[in-house]
Amino acid sequence: MALTGLEIYKQLPKTNCKDCGFPTCLAFAMKMAAGQVPLDKCPHVTAEGKAALESASRPPIQVVRIGTDANEIKVGNETQLYRHEEKFYRPAAVAVRVSDTLDEAALAERAKAIGQLVFERVGTRIKVNLVAVDNASGDAARFELAAKLAAEKSGLACVLMSASAANLARAAAALSGQRPLLYLTDPTDPTEAEAAAAVAKDNQCPLAVAADGLEALAELTPKLAAAGVEELVLDPGTRTLKETLEALTRIRRLALKGFRPVGYPAIALTTADDPTMQAVEASTFIVKYAGVVVTDAIEPWQILPILTTRQDIYVDPQKPVAVEPKLNAVGEVNEQSPLLVTTNFSLSYYSVEGEVEASRVPAYILSVDTEGTSVLTAWASDKFNAETITQAMKKSGIEERVAHRKVMIPGFVAVLSAGVEDESGWSVLIGPKEASGIPSYLKNQWQA
Ligand code: SF4
Repeated sequence: MALTGLEIYKQLPKTNCKDCGFPTCLAFAMKMAAGQVPLDKCPHVTAEGKAALESASRPPIQVVRIGTDANEIKVGNETQLYRHEEKFYRPAAVAVRVSDTLDEAALAERAKAIGQLVFERVGTRIKVNLVAVDNASGDAARFELAAKLAAEKSGLACVLMSASAANLARAAAALSGQRPLLYLTDPTDPTEAEAAAAVAKDNQCPLAVAADGLEALAELTPKLAAAGVEELVLDPGTRTLKETLEALTRIRRLALKGFRPVGYPAIALTTADDPTMQAVEASTFIVKYAGVVVTDAIEPWQILPILTTRQDIYVDPQKPVAVEPKLNAVGEVNEQSPLLVTTNFSLSYYSVEGEVEASRVPAYILSVDTEGTSVLTAWASDKFNAETITQAMKKSGIEERVAHRKVMIPGFVAVLSAGVEDESGWSVLIGPKEASGIPSYLKNQWQA
């Protein structure tokens, strides 16, 4: 269990020296108990005190690193049950499975396709993070070959899935230095888990272990930690959507209450045969509360909603997603190109940009700083008004880029037209209310 402020205080020097930035040792202890300051902010705590306080300074959910360099992804270290209380920090890793029962050509092709599952959404690149190599054959040599091929062809870090610690050892050695997640999938034999821990320790890899339920997991993880594997990932052994969802929720709740044996990220597998349900399962596990999701879904139409869900869940709900407020050129603009104005709310901006691209009419889009709020919200809060639009136009240098003096504002804020004309001296054109009307407007009504 997590330590209380008073329990922490007992281990501090009690000199009230203020070197930690707090007026007293007690104030520091209370902040540390709340998880708001790490122990190393006190430079005077003794080695004995440090050892006693280790559990209090560890995050409630251990950080686990998978892969290296550009492929490295960290999962864990979440502190909340509900994202409206504070944001979630470390997006779940999405892994797509490839079986070592495939022949070499098919395996290489699938791994390559997994590595190409990259999309751009609201200005951000979203992608599959891992290739999960499944030792479905049970054969060590096939598994080793599949691991090498999958890593090479996908260009991603790996999850190595096997029921055998010996097979994991062989594949891990083949990916030496790449820090794959070793995943012992058989929940029935705790001694195999201890053998897998030795493999993980020898290869300096994180280890995922399956167990037959949460109670069995809670008994197993202290043994694995004592064997020297700090970075663990938990598989509660459930294989239906309902049971896995319940298990993931229990793990998160217990971990946040300070129950250390389950204070690790969890891994969840989609098990549905139906391709649509695979996407539904993966998205559900991302929302609550998997650190790693392994799925057979590989089609872009399956993966995009999974990654979109992840992107939406891991943004700060208290901060609108914003783009940089600036003048943007779309296409081969010239001095006769139209000027459209919108806000810097990313969905507003990218809706407009997408429609301008679709129109094939090169144009300037000026995104005005409205602190990431949409057109109507910004107008209602007086962030998108004649003055802010005119200031943004002046700052952008648009006067030197176009020969005309016409600016198009969104149809929803037509009421601003007179004010913008007065402030800027430019003619205001009332654009369509919806971005979808932009192509037709630019082609049929725009004239410099
Ligand atoms: Fe106390 Fe350590 Fe802070 Fe000094 S630095 S006030 S000893 S907690």
